[in-house]
Amino acid sequence: MNIHTVMVIGAGQMGTGIAQVHAQAGYHVIWYDMEKKQLEKGMERIERNVERQREKNRLSEGEGKEMIKRIHSTSHLRRAGEADLIVEAVTENKDVKKRIFHEVDPLAPPHAILASNTSSLSITELASVTNRPAQVIGMHFMNPVPVMKLVEIIRGLSTAEETAETGRAVCESLGKTAIEVNDYPGFVSNRVLMPMINEAVYAVYEGVASPEAVDNVMTLGMNHPLGPLALADLIGLDTCLFIMETLHDGFGDDKYRPCPLLRNYVKAGWLGKKTGRGFYFYSS
Ligand code: NAD
Repeated sequence: MNIHTVMVIGAGQMGTGIAQVHAQAGYHVIWYDMEKKQLEKGMERIERNVERQREKNRLSEGEGKEMIKRIHSTSHLRRAGEADLIVEAVTENKDVKKRIFHEVDPLAPPHAILASNTSSLSITELASVTNRPAQVIGMHFMNPVPVMKLVEIIRGLSTAEETAETGRAVCESLGKTAIEVNDYPGFVSNRVLMPMINEAVYAVYEGVASPEAVDNVMTLGMNHPLGPLALADLIGLDTCLFIMETLHDGFGDDKYRPCPLLRNYVKAGWLGKKTGRGFYFYSS
């Protein structure tokens, strides 16, 4: 299927990256968030990224301007009616995402594909609230989106081959590598990554080591580019907690129980880089 116009729902860190890479690849982007402030902040971030790329001669001034012009922010979900592909990247909460899929389904053209950037939630369940389950798919981009090569493609039980093919083709057009996995909690990426992050939080909670020491062990000892706690701060501690809860509920296995310290940080609003404080402090 030919995709010209992509609607991105959500203007947090992931939605911003997803809007940027699609505009950069030549797609028209309609960008929606319920918070106008988030769209403004996201647009500023994209403009700064374009400027940086221009300084490095990766983009001409004209190309940068054209790219920005392809992004149209909106506070009207009904503009889903213009999209061939809708990529949802709102908060990792099943009820919120189901509501969005339910609302957007009747607004989108019959041919449109609905994709979710969920890190862990069931694509099959999100598809079940729409009248087009064969056209629903998971497109799990990695953070930061403009830099990371992988997109995990997740097929729900009803996802059609043509939908998966289009998802893969779009990822390739963005210069990404698509890897297809089946629809189980956390898919592959977060089923493997998140228990490691949770265990790192337990190490701090139980006084085994400081956050710095835990991260240094993993960067210097295991060659990880970023320690698990710095990575958790980058992902967002609320998102990490949501994912652990999905793994815990989905598998019913106590090995996935979220660390109480992670819960406390989220309760305190210490969500990591996006709020200025998590396991580390960040200046704006
Ligand atoms: P975020 O907290 O930075 O942004 C979430 C955005 O969703 C906010 O702008 C918020 O205003 C918006 N939003 C919430 N409810 C909404 C609604 N009902 N309608 C419209 N907008 C709404 O979160 P994020 O880190 O960008 O994560 C977004 C999604 O991407 C989640 O599903 C997350 O699991 C997934 N994801 C995150 C990462 C990561 O490293 N953070 C990586 C891969 C995937």
